[in-house]
Amino acid sequence: MNAITNHMPTAELQALDAAHHMHPFTTGDEIAAKGARVITGADGVMLRDSDGNQILDAMAGLWCVNIGYGRHELAEVAARQMRELPYYNTFFMTTHVPAIALSQRLAELAPEGMNHVFFAGSGSEANDTNIRMVRTYWDMKGKPSKKVIISRHNAYHGSSVGSGSLGGMSGMHAQGGMPIPDIHHIGQPNWWAEGGDMTPEDFGLMRAQELEQAINEMGEDRVAAFIAEPVQGAGGVIVPPSTYWPEIQRICDKYEILLIADEVICGFGRTGEWFGSTTMGIRPDIMTIAKGLSSGYQPIGGSIVSDEIATVINSGEFNHGYTYSSHPVASAVALENLRILDEEGIITKVRETTAPYLKSKWEALLDHPLVGEANIVGMMGSIVLTPHKESRAAFKSDVGTVGYICRERCFANNLVMRHVGDRMIISPPLVITEGEIDTLIERAVKSLDECH
Ligand code: PLP
Repeated sequence: MNAITNHMPTAELQALDAAHHMHPFTTGDEIAAKGARVITGADGVMLRDSDGNQILDAMAGLWCVNIGYGRHELAEVAARQMRELPYYNTFFMTTHVPAIALSQRLAELAPEGMNHVFFAGSGSEANDTNIRMVRTYWDMKGKPSKKVIISRHNAYHGSSVGSGSLGGMSGMHAQGGMPIPDIHHIGQPNWWAEGGDMTPEDFGLMRAQELEQAINEMGEDRVAAFIAEPVQGAGGVIVPPSTYWPEIQRICDKYEILLIADEVICGFGRTGEWFGSTTMGIRPDIMTIAKGLSSGYQPIGGSIVSDEIATVINSGEFNHGYTYSSHPVASAVALENLRILDEEGIITKVRETTAPYLKSKWEALLDHPLVGEANIVGMMGSIVLTPHKESRAAFKSDVGTVGYICRERCFANNLVMRHVGDRMIISPPLVITEGEIDTLIERAVKSLDECH
């Protein structure tokens, strides 16, 4: 058998890919018809494809390559760790230095009173951990009826059966038997699409109060936790109105409902702080982490847990864990990634310089005839495409509409942007420069013009 390499003709690679490789969240027939673009390398914010194009990755992969591509320090740490201890677990009374060092560092970075970490291999696994952990916590506290976890429609919390059930994506629920029992969904704070004649502030308050209504309807003694992203990412970068989070926090405090902040996207600088919870001023009991934790250089996720929850859980055996929980190579790489984020002042630079620059350019897109709303927090943003700005009208269907066409135009113009319906979203590497932001905007405007 011949080796398959980057040097093979693109068409041959595409044919082999279509023949054998099943792609996530993709129609296989479309892959077979068009051929997937073959990515052969990357540096900084730029991807390279097999035809030699330089593509600006305004999604940081899947919202994860926070420090940018091509940081060889991480490769060296991984190689060193693989030579020293490529694998061992922390089940059954063993531990190792990468797990100790990473959990200690995360406790330093996390909000006060959150000093414990349970590791997983991904964000989905971490949210599965959270489902079991909050229910076990209430069991051990003598309140076994507290089982229901409240989430939001259109939320994304992962693809496993548990985390996909926490998520509120109807297309996912339609396939494969989700949601599992005792998950309840309330409305999302998406003012553009659902706010009607209300002000954003009144709408934000109304949506937060749906949590209180749900608790009252089900009974406080049944509800274990509320989970949400500080800023909804995969749902379309939906920035909640300013009234939303203070009201959610008040309700969680009042009814003793644990607050799980899913920081898988928002964490590690994406919003201009280490955690989106800080940006939104909330006090979670658990934070889900993944993606930017290792900048995607290794698969790793986890749950950062309050001292109170850890004390209760640690007083018994938590019958839970993954083969790759606390993986030494992933942990060592994540630790090096956190060092780079910190020592190079990447998050401070985002907050003080590049995010304000991006915001000014992003909001100027409102001048484009197709753009009805521009949202941005730190390095995550969305624009909403509309046929009529004043009435906030939507294009007719999700498939083949302007969002889809715009994403295709962007890709043809060597810019990776995603679309969620007719919301176009970005989440570039945090190291993007002002010059690269200009390139991003130029390519986005060209693409918008082409689908107008
Ligand atoms: N939570 C959020 C907010 C996410 O955006 C994602 C992935 O996009 C996940 C959880 C799941 O993480 P993973 O894909 O690592 O399982």
